[in-house]
Amino acid sequence: MTYTANKDRYRDMKYNRVGNSGLLLPAISLGLWHNFGGVDTYENGRAMLHKAFDLGITHFDLANNYGPPPGSAEEMFGKIIKTEFAPYRDEMVISTKAGYHMWDGPYGEWGSKKYLIASLDQSLKRMGLDYVDVFYSHRPDPNTPLEETMGALDQIVRQGKALYVGISSYDAVQTAEAVKILNDLGTPLLIHQPSYSMFNRWIEDGLQDVLSENGVGSIAFCPLEQGLLTNKYISGIPSDSRAAKANTFLDKDRVTDQVLNRVRHLNELAVERGQNLAQMALAWVLRERRVTSALIGASKVSQIEENVAALNNLEFTAEELARIEEILKN
Ligand code: NDP
Repeated sequence: MTYTANKDRYRDMKYNRVGNSGLLLPAISLGLWHNFGGVDTYENGRAMLHKAFDLGITHFDLANNYGPPPGSAEEMFGKIIKTEFAPYRDEMVISTKAGYHMWDGPYGEWGSKKYLIASLDQSLKRMGLDYVDVFYSHRPDPNTPLEETMGALDQIVRQGKALYVGISSYDAVQTAEAVKILNDLGTPLLIHQPSYSMFNRWIEDGLQDVLSENGVGSIAFCPLEQGLLTNKYISGIPSDSRAAKANTFLDKDRVTDQVLNRVRHLNELAVERGQNLAQMALAWVLRERRVTSALIGASKVSQIEENVAALNNLEFTAEELARIEEILKN
């Protein structure tokens, strides 16, 4: 198997600086939570990674538990890196995380140093990498001192196993504390990975201010609300969609009349802007540059092409933003 990257891959993608750091991330990044596991088609995953990289997506986001089965997304990614992306490793920003359940017993989840260090060692083996670019604490642990979790992140950087560190799903207060601890340790917090979309705006209530005041970047996960913020559910639930599949985190019950009503109105506005709803939803997440990168998922190559084309129109008029607020109220 051979792969040669598109020589024009850096022509159209936008790259945004992550907080006050030296690192740039593509405005659209690709996550491997779904569709890259052991149960998925290897060839489809491979084709999506090729397409993403060819379009200038340099950032690929993983976690220890992505699959299913847990760990299999890192294994699949590792196989592709080894066989096809090896010449491009220095053009890629690869992240992984630990925080959710990964193995049995008291050391297989949450935020202890014991778990985080062991988990990253396992992730590096599965991916066949010497280091990841970003390692995250995947969720706050109410029972482990934050100093221990942040100390583990600092140690991982000092060991050369990660270049930068991040946190995911920490609230504003926890994030401010993490920033302080990491600054004192000399390993500044690079990035926060929260959920964020038109349908899920919790980060606007304090977290975004903490991030901008402290020069920390952000990468928004589920910017399409797992597919709800696209036009795919307008005429029913397609059999190959995430909502139709078993063992996903998008329950059919979330496709309600209220959601579809909003989606129809948002889609009309998107079409007026010369976009489809997925594209407008991504542009909206990236508006005013408060978010460094929108972290999409995809089940098909064509979705990646469509989503990257969102960058053709990232501007909103005040009237368009006001219309969106009105639609989201109903
Ligand atoms: P999205 O909100 O982008 O949803 C992606 C899904 O939407 C796709 O798999 C596809 O589903 C559908 N879709 C995407 N593009 C289109 C399109 N143009 N038209 C129609 N449907 C489309 O993000 P995800 O929920 O996949 O999450 C993205 C990433 O965020 C993950 O891979 C992971 O890296 C990260 N993440 C992090 C978490 C954390 O705790 N830190 C938690 C969750 C995610 P379909 O199968 O229906 O085609």
